[in-house]
Amino acid sequence: MGDKLILDGKKVSNDVREALKPRIAALKEKGIQPCLATILVGDDPSSATYVRMKGNACERLGIESKRIHLPAETTTEELVQVIQDLNNDEKVHGILLQHPVPGHIDERKAFETISIEKDVDGVTSWGYGQTALGFGLYPSCTPAAIMKIMEYYGISAEGKHAVVIGRSPILGKPVSALLLNANATVTTCHSYTKNLPEIVAQGDIVVAAVGKPEFIKGEWLKEGAVVLDAGYNPGNIGDVEYESCLEKASAITPVPGGVGPVTISMLLKHTVDAAERKLAEME
Ligand code: NAP
Repeated sequence: MGDKLILDGKKVSNDVREALKPRIAALKEKGIQPCLATILVGDDPSSATYVRMKGNACERLGIESKRIHLPAETTTEELVQVIQDLNNDEKVHGILLQHPVPGHIDERKAFETISIEKDVDGVTSWGYGQTALGFGLYPSCTPAAIMKIMEYYGISAEGKHAVVIGRSPILGKPVSALLLNANATVTTCHSYTKNLPEIVAQGDIVVAAVGKPEFIKGEWLKEGAVVLDAGYNPGNIGDVEYESCLEKASAITPVPGGVGPVTISMLLKHTVDAAERKLAEME
């Protein structure tokens, strides 16, 4: 097992954050304070934790974090108004609406309200479309993190068969698009997929984005597969069965310490990118 590569998300994350420091300093010298607005609706404890982690990560790096917490009974119209106000706020460069919002809210309508310039998590259909066509400014942060980890470790997707398990708008679909754009042959699996283990067995690259703890088994994998586990289930458990997958994989992300920290770093990077674009417009 000595030649196994553990894809260390903290290392990648540190690398991304270090590279942002001089860029943030340069923005501040020109009077621009990069700012990410986060919106949390309701009191779901996991969502509250994710939003807090994102806000704290901003502040540690010198990015302003504007934290908006709305009550669970907020209506779609009220949420849309809050987002429109943030769109119009010159000081805000990125907007993150934490998913999921309470069930009575039209989440898609709320996402679509975010202006494309501030859609730093790639949640609008416009942002997703740009990502799929290969010129997206801000792909969703978890898919962007997966590609960043591969880049950092010199793992090329070109000509490889990538099997993605999951097709959600923020994860499975955009990561499939990014892998396709990186010249992989991509199979996207979902809950209607038949013979999942046989399809996973074809994957040179396997991305787990299914939301079920330890769902992907090592015995399904091709020997030497690269495994990227986006899953984050209660108790810090990923979507792959780590020990058995480690046996078969040539490289694997752990949970925690894999995709998660890099996801937050990509959010910080996209916010800084957005602030730089705003400055360029002003100059
Ligand atoms: P989601 O919206 O629930 O989507 C899950 C996907 O898995 C769906 O496309 C679903 O198929 C598919 N699926 C469910 N059961 C399946 C089965 N038996 N066989 C094959 N496919 C199946 O979840 P998500 O938001 O994409 O999140 C996925 C995981 O990533 C979760 O563990 C989540 O916590 C984690 N996550 C992590 C980060 C991070 O920063 N690390 C960020 C976001 C999400 P259908 O489309 O047919 O229903």
